[in-house]
Amino acid sequence: MNYETCDFIDEQQIGQTLAAAASDAGRVREVLAKASEMKGLDAGEVALLTCLEDGELLHELFETANQVKNTIYGKRLVLFAPLYISNLCANECLYCAFRATNKAIIRRSLTQEEIAREVEILISQGHKRILMVAGESYPREGFPYVLKSVRTIYDVKSEHGEIRRVNVNVAPLSVDEFRQLKAEKIGTYQIFQETYHRDTYSKVHVGGKKRNYDWRVTAPHRAMQAGIDDVGIGILFGLYDYRFELLAMLQHIRALERDFGVGPHTISVPRLEPATGSDLASHPPFAVSDNDFRKIVAILRLAVPYTGIIMSTRETARMRSETFALGVSQISAGSRTNPGGYTHEEEETDASQFSLGDHRPLDEVIRDVAAMGYIPSFCTACYRLGRTGRDFMDLAKPGDIKLHCDPNALSTFREYLRNFASEETRQIGDRLIADTISQMSGIARQRAEKLIKQVDAGKDDVYC
Ligand code: SAM
Ligand code: SF4
Repeated sequence: MNYETCDFIDEQQIGQTLAAAASDAGRVREVLAKASEMKGLDAGEVALLTCLEDGELLHELFETANQVKNTIYGKRLVLFAPLYISNLCANECLYCAFRATNKAIIRRSLTQEEIAREVEILISQGHKRILMVAGESYPREGFPYVLKSVRTIYDVKSEHGEIRRVNVNVAPLSVDEFRQLKAEKIGTYQIFQETYHRDTYSKVHVGGKKRNYDWRVTAPHRAMQAGIDDVGIGILFGLYDYRFELLAMLQHIRALERDFGVGPHTISVPRLEPATGSDLASHPPFAVSDNDFRKIVAILRLAVPYTGIIMSTRETARMRSETFALGVSQISAGSRTNPGGYTHEEEETDASQFSLGDHRPLDEVIRDVAAMGYIPSFCTACYRLGRTGRDFMDLAKPGDIKLHCDPNALSTFREYLRNFASEETRQIGDRLIADTISQMSGIARQRAEKLIKQVDAGKDDVYC
């Protein structure tokens, strides 16, 4: 198959579904009851929930999302750090500081030595997962720069450990290039459509290859065709009506399920943030309020219950914590969005992609998250044991994945506490681990106790 043109986003159908959605309390409760069985939602049901304004019904939506999140993910929260390797870009995305004609930022692409230095710093903070990010223009060597950079990240071994999973967010690739990326053993390939609305898409992408909507929206198909099982998608909220975007994203997900038997591994929910040299970023045409943002996370949790939801440090600490309860399963922490930002902390504003809402270092994020009862997880077991794509979903759906995730979250958290945490964080974390194990039973508890014992005996990187 040649996945280069898009036949799965039907704007007319989305319009009709939205027009037919009426917020009737009885029907809303029926949909929430169905959602609590964790079988997902169809387009009409999603449309209905997007119309919700009534305070009581919204509360019921949030409660249902919380229930589903707890049943599937428990209290785990996976942590990662973005690593920006280059801000060179040939595109003109009007919302982004990296766009080609923006003279207001310093351009920089890291050498392999500089990448290794950044990685050493992230490892010394306790990170195990990196999301590698770049603009769409690589230094002279071209695409091999991306491949080499992934290799460099994995090759850094320090006394504090190593990076165990590299996810990648770069511009759309050909099937052959995706194959090369897979050969570097990447975890998830991530790409955000930004907006699924064609007219808006062409208005905000005014130069460079990214103008091609079809080439971008079909990238997850090509990645899967190349054998990359775990693909992440996303919407940049604020560019167009979020109701339309959610329904279009659902069509995208169903197309991947139709063609590959599995949908995306993760969904990201960035909201437009101010960016140097971008008027659009400071004045989002369809700004999403905090209330609607909570609603978006809750609806996604119910629509695709087994798909991870990622929240970045674009959001404030407060919004991030609120949405943990509604469905977020992965967060970034201690992030910098300028190439070299971990090595040269003082340069943050000169070359960053957008402003951050959460500036706390990793240790503080972990302490706050643990104090709220969530277990920070650095687990990378599934991907290393080949539990990806459909295999992962087959384990996740009957709930079996919890027998792995819970013990692995606890052991990687203990490893973090032992090797990297401040005294205060360690105390809070150890208490949480003890409480959590005391509430576990059966195989999960046996596995957790065994792994924790191994970590306490000085062993790193233990998982099941
Ligand atoms: N250049 C590649 C691309 O555009 O696909 C990959 C990296 S790009 C740096 C990663 C993402 O940053 C984009 O997909 C976009 O959603 C997000 N982004 C860009 N400008 C932003 C802004 N002002 N606020 C929030 N997110 C932004
Ligand atoms: Fe370049 Fe990506 Fe920014 Fe667009 S969003 S200007 S492609 S870095």
